[in-house]
Amino acid sequence: MELIGAIDQGTSSTRLIIFKAGTCEVLVEHQLEVQQHFPNEGWVEQDPLELLKSVHLCIQGVVDKLQAKNIPVSSIKGIGLTNQRETTIVWNRLTGIPVHPAMVWSDARNSLIVKNLCSEFGQDHLRTQCGLPIATYFSATKLLWLWDHIPEVKQLAEEGNLLFGTVDTWILWNLTGGTQNGLHLTDVTNASRTMLMSLKTLSWDPSLLKFFNLPLHILPTIKASSDDFGCIATGPMRGIKISGVVGDQQAALLGQGCTRIGEAKSTYGTGCFMLYNTGDSIVESKHGLLTTVAYQQAGRSATYALEGSVAVAGSSVRWLRDNLGLIKDSSEISSLAEQVEKTDGVYFVPAFSGLFAPHWKSDARGTLCGLTSHSTKHHICRAVLEATCFQVKDIFEAMKMDSKSSPSSILVDGGMTASQILLQLQSNILGIDVQKPSFSEVTALGAAVAAGVSLGLWQLGTKISDLQTYSPEIDNIERDRKMKRWRMALERSLGWELE
Ligand code: ADP
Repeated sequence: MELIGAIDQGTSSTRLIIFKAGTCEVLVEHQLEVQQHFPNEGWVEQDPLELLKSVHLCIQGVVDKLQAKNIPVSSIKGIGLTNQRETTIVWNRLTGIPVHPAMVWSDARNSLIVKNLCSEFGQDHLRTQCGLPIATYFSATKLLWLWDHIPEVKQLAEEGNLLFGTVDTWILWNLTGGTQNGLHLTDVTNASRTMLMSLKTLSWDPSLLKFFNLPLHILPTIKASSDDFGCIATGPMRGIKISGVVGDQQAALLGQGCTRIGEAKSTYGTGCFMLYNTGDSIVESKHGLLTTVAYQQAGRSATYALEGSVAVAGSSVRWLRDNLGLIKDSSEISSLAEQVEKTDGVYFVPAFSGLFAPHWKSDARGTLCGLTSHSTKHHICRAVLEATCFQVKDIFEAMKMDSKSSPSSILVDGGMTASQILLQLQSNILGIDVQKPSFSEVTALGAAVAAGVSLGLWQLGTKISDLQTYSPEIDNIERDRKMKRWRMALERSLGWELE
């Protein structure tokens, strides 16, 4: 039996899933939640050592489960790694110790840096080279904050001992040996989220490095997504090849089998991300979307995508649970929301650290509008679910304009799609069918595809056949009325953060 493992290091959890090669048949899996810390307004941190430990614990957990089933670990022919993107880690090459907590992708402490760059050069100054607006979201502006505020960062860089990486790079360096000759690598999809890579050449762009005044020697080597990333150096999976690395949203695109031009998917995890495959064309967005690398096989040209990124989706459910204590577990949001037929005028804009696509407003903050003495937690739960759907509608409309196409259905996946009411509301608000595969671990599946393709054990473009479909249950008049109210709520969230 030939097996492929997929490590999925997300913002909420880490999991390792072992697939029968070429299929979505899962033999064993192990999953652990990871902590996020919010030490200040707009700050979001994770402990890089905790992320790494969770990977090691998942490896051990999976090995124990394989042994219990009498399956030899040597059946695993390769490992794929997928990860939360943009999250920025800097560490000391000599000790392997991180210099600072990981600045998570949704961390907006760099908003002043971004504001200054935007007012001097304009938000879209670097779009042609890297496909991205200047925003708090991307690694380069996070790295600038670390550079300016943490003296050890600049000092270690001057000594030649600072390494920068997104989460893929951090895990790869450690799994392949760390201070003992660990490999400092990333893949094109992750590199395309840093603002430092040229979309055309797929290498670090000297003019972008000059713009941000960052040195090349701290950056990892860029490889394709299906490529040779070395072997695991120690532990119970020692010697197993890492043969694929791909950012989580691009992994979901691969997992959904959206490898042809015009195919799209939307993933509802901590944030929500819609990707539209544009083949080998680098389409520059005119409507606030991102241009990004979708994937690349070693030795071949890259495939690109248009992306709409929403910062807060499932994390608003977690916020109801952890900050407000309104629900005890994530699934309770649906049972509460179902007890009312409408939000009765309550609208929620979850701009906790500003708004991403298509608005790109770092000064927006969360807003709950339309409360009356009639409003209950049921209305609020429903408004929180609807907020994700409205945000997805905004990026869907932008994507229609940029791609000049009008899909009649959309494939979905991610933790939040466990909520059936969310999927029905989404179909109502988009006005098209929403289709959810019965297999839920689509992101991990995509990492397994990337790894399996390098080893000749997987075929690109395989779709999950079993789909559940949600069709619109409201008419255009009702949809337009809701969108108008949403836009009013959105207006009220803007300009809240003063400095
Ligand atoms: P990530 O890949 O970003 O770590 P996941 O795809 O694992 O995220 O999804 C986790 C998110 O999904 C959490 O933010 C959680 O609040 C949300 N979630 C999980 N289960 C449900 C549910 N039954 N209903 C609504 N949201 C849920």
